[in-house]
Amino acid sequence: MGNGATVTSWTCERCEVTTSWMPGVEVPRLPPNWSEHSGVLYCLGCQRELAGEDGVASLPEDAPADDRRKQHSHSRIAFEIGRDPERPDQQIAKVCRTSVVAVRRARERIGSPKVTAKSQGA
Ligand SMILES: [Zn+2]
Repeated sequence: MGNGATVTSWTCERCEVTTSWMPGVEVPRLPPNWSEHSGVLYCLGCQRELAGEDGVASLPEDAPADDRRKQHSHSRIAFEIGRDPERPDQQIAKVCRTSVVAVRRARERIGSPKVTAKSQGA
């Protein structure tokens, strides 16, 4: 049984980052967290950026720059929440390079349950 030392690798269409799979390990169809859109591969970071761009594209053409920036950020956060709603806000904020407050607001906007250790009883 020799598949030789073939290293399987994938290249992201958008940022050209390449990831490879060690020989001898069962090769997945795609690396974890990568996705394929009509035969084109995207790494996780680019999927997030594309989600942001999609969000901006949904705005009216004359939307102010500030709204575009907010929508871009919100869509990226929403993408991350959608991937794994159970993740703590801090982690989502970190990968999206935004604030925890922005993540909480995004959760409210999309109706995702908050992930907090315990709700504080007033
Ligand atoms: Zn990429």
